[in-house]
Amino acid sequence: MNIPLSKPYIGSLEKEYVLDVLASGQLSFGKYLKEFENQFREYLNMKYAVAMNSGTSALHIAVKTLGLKKDDEVITSPYSFIASSNCLLYEGIKPVFVDVDFHSTVIDAEKIEEAITEKTKAILVVHIFGQVCDMDEICRIAAKYNLKIIEDACEAIGAERNGKKAGTWGDVAVFAFYPNKQITTGEGGMLVTNDTRIFEEAMSLRNQGRALTNDWLTHERLGFNYRLSDIQAAVGVAQMKRLSDILSRREQAATYYKELINHSNIKGIDYLHPLHSCKISWFVFPIFFHNKTARDYVMKHLNEAGIQAKPYFPSIHLQPLYKKLFHHKAGSFTNSERLSDCSLAIPFYTTIDKHEQDLVIAEIQKALERYEHAM
Ligand SMILES: *Cc1c(COP(=O)(O)O)cnc(C)c1O
Repeated sequence: MNIPLSKPYIGSLEKEYVLDVLASGQLSFGKYLKEFENQFREYLNMKYAVAMNSGTSALHIAVKTLGLKKDDEVITSPYSFIASSNCLLYEGIKPVFVDVDFHSTVIDAEKIEEAITEKTKAILVVHIFGQVCDMDEICRIAAKYNLKIIEDACEAIGAERNGKKAGTWGDVAVFAFYPNKQITTGEGGMLVTNDTRIFEEAMSLRNQGRALTNDWLTHERLGFNYRLSDIQAAVGVAQMKRLSDILSRREQAATYYKELINHSNIKGIDYLHPLHSCKISWFVFPIFFHNKTARDYVMKHLNEAGIQAKPYFPSIHLQPLYKKLFHHKAGSFTNSERLSDCSLAIPFYTTIDKHEQDLVIAEIQKALERYEHAM
C-alpha cells in the first residue's frame, strides 16, 4: 500500500497556463501575477492582494507593514506551524502564547485579555486546520486595547464564520500555497488587506524596497526579494479557477471520513468539529486519540502499512529554539500540548477516493484493536 499524506491536484489548465508563460518570455511580473492577485481580491472581496514567494514571506511582510518592532509583544497561539511565530522572531518581537481551546484547536479568545501588557501591539491569530478563530471576540479585544490583528489564514482558504471568510477581519491576512495546502503554486503566499498604506508598503517590501513607480534602480527602504514568479502564478490562476470544485471535493472527503468513523465501532478517536457558526475549509484531516501512547502506536502501524500519517502539530513553545530563547517548559500550555500528543493527520487530499479512505480507516481500526490487546 502507498497512500500519501497529501498530494497536489494539478490539471491540464495548470499545464496550459505554465506553457503560456514559458512561451511568452515574461517569467516575472507578467499577466498571471496580476490575474492571481485579482482573483484573490475578488474571492475575498478585499481591496488589495499581494502575491509572495511563500506564506512565511507574506507573514514577515505583514509584521513589517504594521510597524511592529524589537521588544514589542504579539499574542499568538502555540498550536500552529512554526512560521506563524518565526515571523515575529525575524523582527525581534516576542511571541506571547495564549493556549488554544482543546475542542476547536484555535486560540482561546477568553484567555487573551489576561496576556495583554503595555508592550502588546498585536494579536496574530492562526486559523489552524481551516477552523476560524472567534473573530468577533478577538476584534472586540483588539479595539478595546488598540491592537492590530494579523490573520494567519495559510490553512484556511474558503473557511467561514457567520458567512464571512477567513482573512477578511484582520488589518492584514496571509495565505499560503505549499503543495499540501488546499491550492498550490509549488511555493507561494498571498497578503491581503483593505489598507492602502499597508498594500503599498507590502508591494515595495517584496520587491527590494523599490518605489511603486517602477523605477527599477531606486530603493526607498530595506526590502526583500519575496516575489512570486509568473510560472508559479500561472499555476495559481488555474487553481483559483477550480477552487470551488477543490473545496467541495475536500468537504466530501472529510464527510466520508467522519461517516466511516461514526459508523465503525472504533472507540477512542475523535475528529475536528466546527465551532458554532463556522465552516471548516479542510486542509488536513486530523484525528485525536485519548493519549500519546495510542496515537504513537497507530501512527507506527499506519506508516508500516504504507499509509502516511504525521503528528500535526508539535507545540511551538516546546520546539528547541523556543525553549532556548524563552525558557518555556512542558505544562505551560496544556491544551496545546495535549493536542500535540494526541493528534494524527491521516491521508487527505482533493483527489483521495473512497477506496483509499476505507483502507485508511480499516488500518486504524486494526491497529487500535491490537493496541487494546497489547495494553
Ligand atoms: C503553511 C503555513 C504557513 C506558511 O508556510 P509556507 O511554507 O512558508 O508557505 C504559515 N502558517 C501556517 C499555520 C501554515 O500552515
